Amino acid sequence: MKISHIEHLGIAVKSIEEALPYYENVLGLKCYNIETVEDQKVKTAFLKVGDTKIELLEPTSPESTIAKFLETKGPGFHHIAFAVEDGVANALAECEANGIRVIDKAPRNGAEGLKIAFLHPKSTQGVLTELCED
Ligand code: ZN
Repeated sequence: MKISHIEHLGIAVKSIEEALPYYENVLGLKCYNIETVEDQKVKTAFLKVGDTKIELLEPTSPESTIAKFLETKGPGFHHIAFAVEDGVANALAECEANGIRVIDKAPRNGAEGLKIAFLHPKSTQGVLTELCED
C-alpha cells in the first residue's frame, strides 16, 4: 500500500471539555471540529498540528470501545491513522493477504466523512492502526 501521511493521532480522554484547555491554552492548538460518531459511540474533537491532526476521543456510552480502553489503560495514546492513497478497501485486501488481523473487514464511515478501517494491534506491533481515505 502507499501511505501519504499520518492523517491523525487518536487520544482517548474521559472528557473533551476537560482535555481541551490543555491542548488549546498550553499547546496553543485550535480545535476546529467536534463531532459525534454514533456507530462508534464516541465524541471526537479535532485539532490541527501542521499537516496532521490530533483526534480526541470521548466515549458517549459505557459500551464504547473507548470506555473500555479508559477503564483498563486510562487516558492516553489510542491509535495512529495513516492516509492511504490507493483506497482503504485495497489496503485492507493487501493486509489480509499478508496475514494481518483486521478489525474491520470492509471500510466504514469515520469522523470527518473519511472512509476508515482498523487493523488489530496484535498484528501491528502493538499499535492500534487506522487506515483512512478522504
Ligand atoms: Zn482515528
